[in-house]
Amino acid sequence: MNRALNVVVVGNGMVGARLHEETLRRDPTSRRVRMTVLGAEPVGGYNRVLLPGLLSGSLTEADLAPERCGASPLATGTTVVGIDRAARTVATADGRQLPYDRLVLATGARTAVPPLPGLREDGADGDSGASARGVTALRTLADARRLRRLADRARAVGARIAVLGGGVLGLEAARALVARGVAVTVVHPAPHVMDRQLDAPAGRVLGRALHRTGVEQRLGVTAVRWEPGKGLHLDDGSVLPAAGLLLCTGARADTALAEECGLDVGPAGIAVDDTLTTSDPDIHALGDCADAEPGLIQPGWEQAGVLAARLTGEDPYARYLGTPRVTRLKAAGIELACLGDPFVTDDGLAGHAPADGGPEVLRLEDPTRERYAKLVLHGDRVTGAILLGVPDAAAGLVQLYDKGAPAPSDRLALMLGRALPPEGGGETGEALPDHAMVCRCNSVTKGALRSAWYDGARSARELADATRATTGCGGCRGAVEKLAAWLAETDPLSSRDTPATTAPR
Ligand SMILES: Cc1cc2nc3c(=O)[nH]c(=O)nc-3n(C[C@H](O)[C@H](O)[C@H](O)COP(=O)(O)OP(=O)(O)OC[C@H]3O[C@@H](n4cnc5c(N)ncnc54)[C@H](O)[C@@H]3O)c2cc1C
Repeated sequence: MNRALNVVVVGNGMVGARLHEETLRRDPTSRRVRMTVLGAEPVGGYNRVLLPGLLSGSLTEADLAPERCGASPLATGTTVVGIDRAARTVATADGRQLPYDRLVLATGARTAVPPLPGLREDGADGDSGASARGVTALRTLADARRLRRLADRARAVGARIAVLGGGVLGLEAARALVARGVAVTVVHPAPHVMDRQLDAPAGRVLGRALHRTGVEQRLGVTAVRWEPGKGLHLDDGSVLPAAGLLLCTGARADTALAEECGLDVGPAGIAVDDTLTTSDPDIHALGDCADAEPGLIQPGWEQAGVLAARLTGEDPYARYLGTPRVTRLKAAGIELACLGDPFVTDDGLAGHAPADGGPEVLRLEDPTRERYAKLVLHGDRVTGAILLGVPDAAAGLVQLYDKGAPAPSDRLALMLGRALPPEGGGETGEALPDHAMVCRCNSVTKGALRSAWYDGARSARELADATRATTGCGGCRGAVEKLAAWLAETDPLSSRDTPATTAPR
C-alpha cells in the first residue's frame, strides 16, 4: 500500500484552516494525505473577516470561533523560520526540522506599516509591526483586543481614535468604532475615500454617508508623525488630537519565507500557476500570500478546495481559474458593492455611445439621497460597477457579473434594479434563479441551499451547517433566513417528519 503524502502547511489562518478541513472532508481517515498545519497564531482558523464586529460589539469572540466558519480549531503557536528545499524540510522557531513531501504556504498578509516617525518608538506592543504607545493595526484577534482596549480608554475620557487609511478596512473599522461610542476621524491622503474602488463622485457620496453615520474624515492630507499622548501630525501643519491610532494602511503578502528559499515572488505575492504550484513543484501557495487574487476570502477558500482536490487525488486535474471580484463594504447603514473594474480611461465617456467596441459607461447620481450607480459594459457584458445605496440593482447586477451573462438592453431599468425579472429579482424566493450566488465567501448558490433543504436541512442554521453559507462575512444571513422561510412555505415536503432525500419535480 502507498504511504500517505506528507503535507506540511505553513499558516493557520482562514485559508490554511480551510485547506485542512477540505482535505479531511475528502480523506477522513488520512489514508491518502497526512497533513500538519503549523501556524504562528495561538488559535488558528478563526474568522478574521468578522473582527470589525468585535469592535462594534455586535459579535463576541465565540462568534469568530473556527467551527463557525467551517474549520476545526488548530492550536499550534508554531512559527516556521526557514525552508530547506533540497532536504525538503522546514525549520520551526522551537528548533524542530520537519520533513515534507509537499509544502503549502498559507502565510497570509501583514499590515503595511508606513515609515512614519513615532510608530516604532517605545514598548513592544503587538503583531502589527507598530510598537508605539496607542498604535495598533487590525489584522489579528490580538490586534482587535488591543484596539478595543484603546477605544474604551479613549471613550472614557472623551478622546478620539485616528484611523489612518480610508480604504475598505479603515472605513469598516471606523464605522464599528463609532458604533462602540468612540469619536473617530479617518485620515486619507486621496481627495476621497476608497479611491481604489470608487471614482470621485461615488467617493464624495460615500463620504457624506459616512459623515451622517458619525465617521469624520480628513481627506487630501498625509500623516507625518505620531506623537503618543498628543495625536497625529499632518502635512498641512495641523495636529489631529487622538488617544489612539489605527493603521489601515494596506496589507502586503507575507512572502518572507518564500523569498528566503528562492521561490519566484511578484509584486502581488508568491507566484503560482493555476494549479497553485510555485516555481518549486513540491511547494504550493494560496490565499493572501499568493499572487492569485489575494485580499478576499472567497478566492482563498475556492483555492483551498482546488488544492485539496489535487492533493487527495480526488481531482488531480482541478485548477483555480479565478473568481469574479466583488467588494462589499460592511458598514451599518451603508450599502455599497463594487464589481470588477469600474474605471475607464476617459471619464468623459459617460453619457456617450461607445465607439469601436470601447466601454459603455452609465451613471446615476443622487447625492442628496446618498445614491450612486455606475455601470461599465464592454459589448453587452458588465465589466465593472459601483452600486451605492441601490441594493436592488446590486443584487441583480452581481448575478449578471458572476455569470458573465448578457445585460438586458434597458440599461436604465438595470441600474434601478428593475430589469431582471424573473432572473435577477434580488429576493430569495421564486424570482431568484438556482445559479444565483447567495453566499459569496463560500460560493454557495441558491440551488445548493435548495438541495440541502431537500436533504433535510430545515432551518437557516441547518442550511449553514450543510453548505457553510453565512459562515464567512455573514452578509448573506438575512437572505438565507428568507430562503429558509420561503422553502418552508412552498415545499410540500417540509411539513413531513422525515426529511426528503431527493428534490421534488
Ligand atoms: C479586519 C479584516 C476584515 C476583512 N474583511 C473581509 C471581508 O469582508 N471580505 C473578504 O473577502 N475578506 C476580508 N478580509 C480579508 C480576509 O480576511 C483574508 O483574505 C483572509 O484572512 C486570507 O486568509 P489567509 O489564510 O490567506 O491569511 P491570514 O488569514 O492572514 O492567515 C495567515 C496565517 O499565517 C500565519 N503565518 C504567517 N507566517 C507564518 C510562519 N512563518 N509560520 C507560521 N505561521 C505563519 C499568520 O500568523 C496567520 O495566522 C478581511 C481582513 C481583515 C484583517
